[in-house]
Amino acid sequence: MGIFLPDERPDQVHHPLNRTMRSLKDLDLEGKTVFLRVDFNVPLDEAGEIWDDTRIKAALPTINYLLEHKAKLIIASHLGRPKGQHKPELSLKPVAKKLSELISREVMLAPDVVGDEVDQMKADLSQDKVLLLENIRFHPGEKGNDPEFSQKLAAGIDGYVNDAFGTCHRAHASVVGIPPLVKQSAAGFLVEKEVEYLKKAIHSPQKPYVAILGGAKVSDKIPVIESLLNRAENILIGGAMAYTFFLAQGYDVGRSLVEEEKKDLALQAYHKAKEKQVNIYLPSDYTVAAEASEEAEAQTLAGFPIPSDLMALDIGPKTIERYTGIITEARTIFWNGPMGVFEIDKFSEGTMKIAEAVANAEALSIVGGGDSVAAVYKAGVSEKISHISTGGGASLEFIAHETLPGIEALTEK
Ligand code: ADP
Ligand code: MG
Repeated sequence: MGIFLPDERPDQVHHPLNRTMRSLKDLDLEGKTVFLRVDFNVPLDEAGEIWDDTRIKAALPTINYLLEHKAKLIIASHLGRPKGQHKPELSLKPVAKKLSELISREVMLAPDVVGDEVDQMKADLSQDKVLLLENIRFHPGEKGNDPEFSQKLAAGIDGYVNDAFGTCHRAHASVVGIPPLVKQSAAGFLVEKEVEYLKKAIHSPQKPYVAILGGAKVSDKIPVIESLLNRAENILIGGAMAYTFFLAQGYDVGRSLVEEEKKDLALQAYHKAKEKQVNIYLPSDYTVAAEASEEAEAQTLAGFPIPSDLMALDIGPKTIERYTGIITEARTIFWNGPMGVFEIDKFSEGTMKIAEAVANAEALSIVGGGDSVAAVYKAGVSEKISHISTGGGASLEFIAHETLPGIEALTEK
């Protein structure tokens, strides 16, 4: 038997949330060479130009802090999926240019991620310049978390900072491999902010807690559902994933997008929810069409079967009303996954109305997931969401596991 403080339950003592993640402000920076992992995975257009620099701007507070505190800065990021190969079209060249404009400093782009030439550039680095390594996923050692690759990345480095929240759920070399090899490591401001908000949604959520889950795949979200069952009173399900739940219950869902092989998993989650007396809601009506296109003829249906030539592409008006009512009462809201094919206006109503309801609720609201965040911007309500997570998969996994590999790497043991 251990000894517990009066307000500690035994199961909380080693709880990941009770340990502290080191902060950037704890680091000794002056004159030190610091390796900063960021998420500069920006969208590029056909001409290779950056059309949205949000992710670069999001890292600026950390970058500026490091520069103001006179660190010699080496920055690393991935871009796209080069699959361990040097792909010129996925070079960080446009990022180097944009970053240089944003920080008004010279940004030198290394010709590679590691190697003699890069080592020389690291050794010659001065405080008035920044060294940006080439796309870290050009090297297979990154995803493989290859110890030798981590050693090379860590060579000549005094400190490590991770501000790439969107990658913290990946046990990659630049996320978990470097920290044990350097003297000091810490979270950047973006990672700190993400963790702070997500912890609130996990640790001490104000009730009622409503989780809204949608999107394309059940498989991505099942672990989160299980974890949410211990926290949320209400789980609202929309998007294509709803139809796997219906299929699992034996309903005919026509041509709706389903995952046959996840039926059992969906059914289990559904029963667990009932056992725990969590209300799990499925749509009661839907917008259906023969295909997901602007030209398709759409209609509202309730009940089953959905005709064999039609697919459900959005939640219907009754469902919108019911979900909106529940969201309005909520004090904590976690939302991941659009309610329908919101990219097409015809099937975007459910998602837009839910976005408005989330924004108008007097609640701590967290939205995570690339498409969900895009939907919130499309609805024009981003300002009224408490926290928009920069990491889709990462925010989901954080909610499910209460920590992430990349966070663990920065946490006092
Ligand atoms: P996020 O990126 O927020 O995590 P997902 O990637 O899981 O969300 O899901 C978003 C995708 O799900 C969107 O491209 C959307 O068109 C699609 N989707 C939502 N509802 C449906 C549906 N009923 N049928 C087909 N696709 C859907
Ligand atoms: Mg997505």
